[in-house]
Amino acid sequence: MKKLSLAIATALFAISCTNNEPQNSTDNYEIATWQGFRTSAASFTFDDNLPAQFTDAVPLLEKYGLHGTFYPVINWVTDWEPIRQAAENGHEIGSHTVSHPNLSTLPEDSVRFELAESKKIIEREIGKECLTIAYPYCAAPADSLTAEYYIAARICDRKHIQAHIPNTMRISSLGVGSESEYIYARDINDYFEEGKTQEAWSVLLIHELENGNGYSPLTLQALDSTLNFLSQRCEGYWVAPFADVALYALERESAQIYETRADDSITISVTTKTLPRYVPLTVRRPLPEGWSSAATVDGNANLCISGGYINIDITPGNAITITKHK
Ligand SMILES: [Zn+2]
Repeated sequence: MKKLSLAIATALFAISCTNNEPQNSTDNYEIATWQGFRTSAASFTFDDNLPAQFTDAVPLLEKYGLHGTFYPVINWVTDWEPIRQAAENGHEIGSHTVSHPNLSTLPEDSVRFELAESKKIIEREIGKECLTIAYPYCAAPADSLTAEYYIAARICDRKHIQAHIPNTMRISSLGVGSESEYIYARDINDYFEEGKTQEAWSVLLIHELENGNGYSPLTLQALDSTLNFLSQRCEGYWVAPFADVALYALERESAQIYETRADDSITISVTTKTLPRYVPLTVRRPLPEGWSSAATVDGNANLCISGGYINIDITPGNAITITKHK
């Protein structure tokens, strides 16, 4: 169980002004590096809206209860329906620009158009926020430009991403399929294992699947085997869309935990910097003295007692009350 050491503030205000419950120090709290205290994170990203991504890859991901990230090029979309359906089923739809240019060589106003217009159209079509972008040709414009529109952006330099993400506007990924050295599941699985050893985040970049005519096809059998490999080792890998993992890391880095103690209950809340949306952060604290077990009032926090700790998932902005189990 790995955690990051970070300064967790003790609450000094708010609740203590309105009632007499003691406000406790939260020095004994830990925030999981990755959701659920899993050792590492993994994301599957798909570029260029190739049809097989929606007819074949989406059902495979869903077979394992997993979600991927799809990066359509606006000008290449002939039918939004499969994309809309994927979004409805919980997959992320991000931007791969309007016209697939090399953003590193465009003038600023053209870069702004590609970033802003693609985001606007995706949000209009799917009715959800478009939070991340994959750069065509893995060529990034100035980070400050991207940061005006997106929380995170993907490049392709094959590195695993450390938990303290060095630059959210340049998050690495590994290209797989026939045009890469990563054609078979065993090689891809080795890549994920390497990421787990580093307690890092590993992102795959996939284009075509099976026998399609698109770039660097990956066989469905390889994708299936890799998804199976990860889901058989769920304590080691948090598999989630690109935006969710980026949001988690951004929340973790800015989280403050507050606790209010009563005789037989603890109320925990978390705040972070303002983000477009929030994913649950996993935190833990030791079981209080004299408590053999605990339960949540709302029963909705993935509460888990393990090794003398209470682990819970809590969405920033919310409060959860845990009671002594009698
Ligand atoms: Zn592309």
